[in-house]
Amino acid sequence: MAQSSNSQYDVDLFVIGAGSGGVRAARIAASYGARVMIAEEFRVGGTCVIRGCVPKKLLVYASRFSHDFEDAAGFGWTVPEATFSWPALIANKDREIDRLEAAYVATLDRWKVKIVRSRAMIEDAHTIRLANGDKVTTDKILIATGGWPHMGPHIPGLEHAISSNEALHLPELPKRIVIQGGGYIAVEFACIFAGMGSEVTLVYRGENILRGFDDDIREHLRNEMQARGIKVLCGHTVTAIERSGDQYVTRLSDGQSIASDKVLFAIGRRPNCMGIGMEKVGIRCHEHGGIEVDEYSRTTVPNIYAVGDVTNRVNLTPVAIREGHAFADTVYGGKPTKADHVDVPTAVFSEPELGVIGLTEAQARAQLDKLDVYKTTFRPMKATLSGRATRVFMKLLVDGVTGRVVGCHIAGPDAGELIQLIGIAVKMGATKADFDATMAVHPTMAEELVTMRDKAASYSRQAGEKAPGKAAE
Ligand code: NDP
Repeated sequence: MAQSSNSQYDVDLFVIGAGSGGVRAARIAASYGARVMIAEEFRVGGTCVIRGCVPKKLLVYASRFSHDFEDAAGFGWTVPEATFSWPALIANKDREIDRLEAAYVATLDRWKVKIVRSRAMIEDAHTIRLANGDKVTTDKILIATGGWPHMGPHIPGLEHAISSNEALHLPELPKRIVIQGGGYIAVEFACIFAGMGSEVTLVYRGENILRGFDDDIREHLRNEMQARGIKVLCGHTVTAIERSGDQYVTRLSDGQSIASDKVLFAIGRRPNCMGIGMEKVGIRCHEHGGIEVDEYSRTTVPNIYAVGDVTNRVNLTPVAIREGHAFADTVYGGKPTKADHVDVPTAVFSEPELGVIGLTEAQARAQLDKLDVYKTTFRPMKATLSGRATRVFMKLLVDGVTGRVVGCHIAGPDAGELIQLIGIAVKMGATKADFDATMAVHPTMAEELVTMRDKAASYSRQAGEKAPGKAAE
């Protein structure tokens, strides 16, 4: 049911930022009859389409061909020596991004959402000022300005480091690259560049990459990456970058230095909330830096909302889209809807790929009275003939009291595709018995998920032992 327009204002909704969350919110609000305007200072599509998920995944596909060519020999194929053109890949990738941007614009046009190609600032709770000084009055405002690469505290030569934004547009493939960071972006780009043939050194400050992921899967991926020739240096930070002719010399905290053609920093992203006028209306940020919102994405100012990475909740594209959709359903569709941030499946497009949902083993041990752990590692069938030294890893975490599967962690080909489907079962509350009752599909890698019979470990909380985080009884 469409909400009636409030003609006292120029528009009913002004969206700042045409990324995944903003575009979805604008389109759905318009479908309910709202008069919507959306401002974008760069390109319609935002991080995901323009300089994130989509171009990154295209590079991931490209990087995997090198293994495919090598693996083909074991299956009887003779592949002439393959050559690779980075400029051709980048040009093709850019063409696809242009096409997607045009599709986003066409969708907004179809729903009569007015696009303004300008930076937009909040002047007061009902007024937006555009870069040319024009003002637009609006009943409600949605902030969907996303995030931006954080380059860390200043170090000498920081200006030589690039972020993932520039990595997607390099004029040529670096023969050697140093990457600082141990999260999604650092790991994915390390695998992309290694797959293309670059010599990659990953520098991470902690004990092991992908902090926050299950420890077994972190260990597995690190070993696989190292087996593919990526040098993973943990317990180090970059302290300086010096230019030396055509190359860069990266100095590390232990005094060693590494020469390379590029230095990439992927050390996190920060919510894009500077310079949009939040302070003028008193929008508060929470302690993690993002805009503080309630479960309906409403900020501390009642007619102003925020979705996506700018709120620093779960910084993933599908989450921003759900938040934007839920906002429009709530405010314009008469259907109060909260975006669900529990058990969000996620993938790391590394080599091998990771797919995970739910608790890690450490979290499950902390939260459950009884935990059963099932895990398996095996050589994938394709590797038998290709001869590639790689293994698949799978782990199921099961609540020992209810039998519910509370975590699933996969490292192997198409793990992202698998976890999307396992995610449905986990969200539905499937038990280990439900998994076991499902007939295997043979021969597949995924059949292991329904045939794991032997527990790798079982933990029970001792009587009187307090679960961390639980109040004393
Ligand atoms: P992450 O937050 O995932 O990782 C940041 C990494 O940088 C961590 O390893 C962190 O170490 C390290 N770090 C932070 N500050 C410093 C510092 N000052 N010096 C050295 N190292 C530092 O950020 P990313 O940039 O990788 O990605 C941003 C977000 O984008 C992700 O969290 C994810 O939400 C999203 N994303 C999702 C993808 C997907 O779904 N496949 C792909 C790419 C991005 P420590 O662990 O010790 O804190």
